[in-house]
Formats: sequence, structure tokens, C-alpha cells
Amino acid sequence: MTHHDIVIVGGGCVGLSVAKHLADRTDRSVAVLEKEHHLAEHQSGRNSGVLHPGFNYPPGSQKARFATEGTRRMKAYCVEHDIPCDELGVLVVATNDREEARLYELADQATANGVEWEILDSQAAIREHEPHAVGQAALHAPEAASVDSQQYVYTLARDVQNAGVSLYLGHAVTAVRHTDFGYRLTTSNGTFEADYLVNAAGLHADTLAHELGVGEEYQVVPFRGEYYELTPEKADLCQSMIYPTPDPDLPFLGVHYTRRADGKVIVGPNAVLAFGREAYENTQFDLNDLQETLTYEGFWKLLASSTMLSVAWEELNKSYRKEKFVEASQKLVPDVRESDLHSSYAGIRAQLVSDDGELVKDPLFIDTDDAVHILNAVSPGLTSSLPFGEHIAETLETKY
Ligand SMILES: Cc1cc2nc3c(=O)[nH]c(=O)nc-3n(C[C@H](O)[C@H](O)[C@H](O)COP(=O)(O)OP(=O)(O)OC[C@H]3O[C@@H](n4cnc5c(N)ncnc54)[C@H](O)[C@@H]3O)c2cc1C
Repeated sequence: MTHHDIVIVGGGCVGLSVAKHLADRTDRSVAVLEKEHHLAEHQSGRNSGVLHPGFNYPPGSQKARFATEGTRRMKAYCVEHDIPCDELGVLVVATNDREEARLYELADQATANGVEWEILDSQAAIREHEPHAVGQAALHAPEAASVDSQQYVYTLARDVQNAGVSLYLGHAVTAVRHTDFGYRLTTSNGTFEADYLVNAAGLHADTLAHELGVGEEYQVVPFRGEYYELTPEKADLCQSMIYPTPDPDLPFLGVHYTRRADGKVIVGPNAVLAFGREAYENTQFDLNDLQETLTYEGFWKLLASSTMLSVAWEELNKSYRKEKFVEASQKLVPDVRESDLHSSYAGIRAQLVSDDGELVKDPLFIDTDDAVHILNAVSPGLTSSLPFGEHIAETLETKY
């Protein structure tokens, strides 16, 4: 039996950031239990790697604060630790009047959140930034950046270990129980005891929380996001990042182009129901996970909305029919051809859904007397990870 004062389950960017900020403010022994033998195997290493500077989020919201502060802190962290991070800026492109009006709303949000922006009001102005992008107007946010998220996670892990945190890889928590003294965690590699618990288990955070009777009114519904990659000869079709104008009613940003810190250009992700929390291929499924989703009332209430149903159908088409994915990509860059895109990696979003069928769009954690359960480290969770982890560490600090 191994004892630590504080045990964090999950070594993604959120769990490790909590560990970092706990190590900065307490002498108590802190451990991170990570089920995989390698870090960044799930959301934190399978994303677009974009630092979203905060124009997408309502002023005054936690999401806005974490994103704006997170972008700045992450850039400084990357410089300090020599992590690839390129401040390329982003173009959010409008292709009709309704979307153009929305750009001005985003610009107002950007001003209120202290984010730099500029409206490009013609095709010619757009072409000066992105020669192949097409639209009637665009919002340019120069502070957006592209970061190597896997290197970030590995650096955080080294950082927390140097600060005295014990990192146990290959330790899957298979059961957790509340005892008179705190928590007993059974893992694939021995039993642990802890006075305080932080649940940062990402795609499995709800399962762990439910075992302790916490957050039972929510469930994670896994949404896969698949990427294509531009062939190296066509990588100059995108110089920075090109996004469609987001629909405020949808939680996902739509297929976009991202020039990664390693120079590759990825296109995606779509958003399709995954038949398993870790079903990264569209031919993979996990019977237990699938049954959990299909028997969840919140999932069926979500699908009952005609908007969600039609979005689900479109996204499914983009997953199984490449030509549909190419069509979505051509809306932003018409010069792209099917042969320019080859299939790349996929990530799975731990999208929290409530019993009444709502997609939870804001970060959500539930704290008890001696634990914090992070149920929705929703995108831009990578961007926000430093201030969000600090916020969780501060919340836990009030308990001891
Ligand atoms: C396709 C996609 C694109 C995205 N793009 C962006 C973007 O461009 N910018 C941005 O800011 N955000 C983006 N995000 C969001 C961002 O990646 C996530 O918000 C963030 O990585 C969440 O981190 P996490 O630590 O909570 O989760 P994870 O990285 O999933 O970490 C959870 C960890 O817990 C471990 N674990 C789970 N269960 C157990 C258990 N029982 N025992 C032990 N360990 C366990 C897992 O192995 C995993 O390592 C994207 C996400 C996806 C999926």
C-alpha cells in the first residue's frame, strides 16, 4: 500500500498542471497516477495544438479568462522550456452576411476580453494573409499560436517530477473507495491511499466520479475528431490557421486548417460520435462504452433536437465519405483537392452531457470536502491548462 497526501488521477495537461501548482504551494506529498505507459496518449496529445486567445468566449466567463490568460502563460512557458510554439495568428473567415455580422460580435468579445483583432473586409485583404483562403470578410487575431502539445505534456511531467511530485505511469485506477481516512485506490499496479483526491481522468472522469456518487447527473459522451493532413507539396495552401465562423449554438469549431509547430498542415477535426471512449478509428468500438452511451437518456434528449440530428448526420458523412470532408475543407480553401489530403490522426473529446440533454460548454468541476472532480475540461482545455490547473489547486488548498 502506498500513501500520498494528494493523489491526482490522470496525467494529461490538466492533471499535470494541477500537480505543478500544488507542488508550488504545498509541502504535502503529491502523486499522479496515469494509466498509460506513455504520456499524451489521449486528448492532451491528440488535438489541434492551437492556443485560442479568447475572442470566442463571452466576456466575464471562466472560459474567456482561462483562455486569454492561458494563451499568454503558455507562450511564456514554451519560451522558458524551449517547447515549439509559433505565434502565427488565426483568420476566422465569413462566407456570407450572417457570418460577417457574427465576426463583429467576435470582435466585440475580443475587445472586452483584451484580445487583439483586426477585421479584414475584402477578399483582397484576406489574400494578403492567406493567399488561398476565400471569404467576404475575416477576423484576424494575431495572438493565436500553434504549440506542440505532446512536448508540452512531457515538459510539464519533467517539471512536476523535479518539484517532488511522484509520477506513476502504467497505473490504471480500476476502483476507488471513500474510507474513514480518505481514499483507497486500486490500480493495475498496486493499491494507493490518499487524504485528498483530484480526478483529472479526462474521458473516464465521469466513471470515477460516479463510483463515489459524484456528478451522477452528467455523463461523458465521446466525440471523435478526425484529421486529414495536406501533402508536403501542398502545405503552402495554408500559412497560419484558417477557421470557419463558429456557430454559437454548437460546441465544436468546425473543420479548420492548422499549420502545426512542426510545419505540417492538418485539416479537421470533424465531430462524430465515437463508439468507445478510446475508439480512435471509425471501425473500432467498445461494447461497454457504446452501451453506456446508447442507454443514456441525456444522449437521446440531445439527439432529439433537429439541429443536433442534422449536424450529427453531416459529421457522420464527413467521417465515412472523404468527398464530404473535402467539400467542407473547400469552403475555406477552394484550391484544395481530394488528392492533396491524406488521412492523419484522430482525437476524442470528453464531451460532458447532462441528463436533460444539454452539451456542457463550460469547464465544470465538482468539489467535495476532500476531492475535486474535473468533469469537463472542455476545449480550449489545452490553452487554459495553466490557469485552470492553478484554479483547481487553489480550490483543493481550501480543504486542508
Ligand atoms: C480533437 C481535439 C482537438 C482539440 N483541439 C484543441 C486546441 O486546438 N486547443 C485547445 O486549447 N484545446 C483543444 N482540445 C481540447 C484539449 O485537448 C483538452 O481540453 C485537454 O487536453 C484535456 O486535458 P485532460 O488532461 O483533461 O485530458 P486527457 O489528456 O485525456 O488526460 C486524461 C488522462 O487521464 C488518464 N486516465 C484516464 N482514466 C484513468 C484511470 N482510470 N487511471 C489512471 N489514469 C487514467 C488518461 O490516460 C489520460 O492520460 C482538443 C481536443 C480534441 C479531442
